[in-house]
Amino acid sequence: MNTALRADTDEVFNQSPPYEDIDLFSSDTPLMEAVKANGAGNEAAGLAAFGEQWGSAEMFALARRANENPPKLYTFDSKGFRRDVVEFHPAYHDLMRASIAAGLHASTWTPAGMRAEPPAEVARGARYYMAAQVESGHLCPITMTRAALAPLAADPKLLAQVAPKVVSRSYDPAFRPWWEKSGMTLGMGMTEKQGGTDVRANITRASPAGDHYSITGHKWFLSAPMCDAFLVLAQAPGGLTCFFLSRFRPDGSVNALRLQRLKDKLGNRSNASSEVEFAGASAWRVGDEGAGIRTIIQMVQLTRLDCALASAGFMRMALAQAVHHTRYRTVFQRHLYDQPMMRAVLADLALEAEGTVALVMRLARAFDRAGDDPREAAYARLVTPAAKYWVCKTAPAFIYEAMECLGGNGYVEESILPRLYREAPVNAIWEGSGNVMCLDVLRALKRDEEADDLFDALEREVLPLTDTDASRSDPRDEPSNEATARILVGRLAALAAASALKASAPPAVAEAFVRTRLIEPRSMLYGADGIDPKTTELLLQRVLPAG
Ligand SMILES: Cc1cc2nc3c(=O)[nH]c(=O)nc-3n(C[C@H](O)[C@H](O)[C@H](O)COP(=O)(O)OP(=O)(O)OC[C@H]3O[C@@H](n4cnc5c(N)ncnc54)[C@H](O)[C@@H]3O)c2cc1C
Repeated sequence: MNTALRADTDEVFNQSPPYEDIDLFSSDTPLMEAVKANGAGNEAAGLAAFGEQWGSAEMFALARRANENPPKLYTFDSKGFRRDVVEFHPAYHDLMRASIAAGLHASTWTPAGMRAEPPAEVARGARYYMAAQVESGHLCPITMTRAALAPLAADPKLLAQVAPKVVSRSYDPAFRPWWEKSGMTLGMGMTEKQGGTDVRANITRASPAGDHYSITGHKWFLSAPMCDAFLVLAQAPGGLTCFFLSRFRPDGSVNALRLQRLKDKLGNRSNASSEVEFAGASAWRVGDEGAGIRTIIQMVQLTRLDCALASAGFMRMALAQAVHHTRYRTVFQRHLYDQPMMRAVLADLALEAEGTVALVMRLARAFDRAGDDPREAAYARLVTPAAKYWVCKTAPAFIYEAMECLGGNGYVEESILPRLYREAPVNAIWEGSGNVMCLDVLRALKRDEEADDLFDALEREVLPLTDTDASRSDPRDEPSNEATARILVGRLAALAAASALKASAPPAVAEAFVRTRLIEPRSMLYGADGIDPKTTELLLQRVLPAG
């Protein structure tokens, strides 16, 4: 072989080095400021250690491998006996082990299943946001596990048995009864073929059978089916009810939970999402018969927060990749990063990301304080659906724009951008889709005076920031009008983000956010909002320290 020729053609220049082996915390100024502003400044050292671990080349490689090797369902063995197990690639297990060791699945709970002291939510929220930047599929069982203890409060005896296994930092993937394991994970089953949003339409039946119930029916989506137990909705004699359904019965036999097939999904490929049938599965009631929605909604409120945290994380990773690459890449003898139009795009993306991270961390604080402070409880009630709606629906278009900053490299699988892009829509769909989030905000405004006052307070706090007259028709004039709900909820989320930015970011950032997101009509596309050069420079410096 002509080695000279080979060396010539192998010369690579004008490309950026891999974006890895970075501390995802210490390189993210808006995150650090938001953590501090929301009461978790003392956690900085631990968060930096987590950021360094999750930003390592090794974690990025695990993430890639877990997605290149999706889980496989084994329904039967070679003799026709049912197995109903899903096998995952070792990289998936490594990610689960790392997340559980760091407490992403349970650090907001005490071993007795009580809420941990503040700032447990903010500290965990920051970790969740960083982990999602690297790999999000495995976070599905992680978020469900952490959220499932909330409804179990309706059954203190069961909670006392389950909580110590849940809060354990030991990941135990063995297919064995949960009470014999060193740690356990939990999932949820609500969605059926005929209705996901409308769970009242569930037809799965629960018949009393002595000290437990016998469940017969199906779930159209049951993610992470190798969880040790699930909170499941089914129709009991007294109405829709929440049940604890374990993979094993108390006598140690495998429960009648039949995995029909795995979904072939757009993204979220490291995670398994199954269709399942229950053929007289044994389950234990959680809460009263007929109180199923009221009980399980406690869980969904927490997973909705995580959807917003994760999508904010996707946006951060996409933006960091874009800024990193454009700082190295030269076009027409000038770094892309220094080209005025690219700067306008990057700065507008950075402004959006500033708003999302400030908002999700502020929201995490509301979860920290809700138990003691009714105003914080009202904030969590009102802003959770608004943030889930706004952040999760913003992410796909945001990631696409960041992808384009990398040109063709961004479209290619080895870069993380395609995976982020495919992953993003699911956070908007599951745990209550966009319109459903907006209906939930309407419901909160109608029923909860404190929530309504909070909306007004946010407007008063945020809008005088600039001179521009923002007086215009209030979309809440017709709060029952569902057709305008997206206008109202988009505005609420932007107000909450602006208020959060005021508390954590430099005034110029908050002012630019208010002007471009709340006062002046917004362009549909990034880079067309006319952010001034000084603020542009400030925003870009805050994305990543200059290399
Ligand atoms: C990858 C994946 C994993 C999942 N894992 C699980 C799981 O583990 N457990 C589980 O229980 N579920 C799971 N789901 C299901 C998910 O929660 C549902 O798909 C979701 O709640 C929407 O329900 P649906 O699919 O039945 O859609 P539908 O309820 O039919 O809704 C369709 C659309 O209509 C909109 N809509 C609904 N009502 C209204 C209204 N009144 N006005 C205006 N618009 C409305 C919704 O916002 C949505 O956009 C998963 C879904 C996915 C994609």
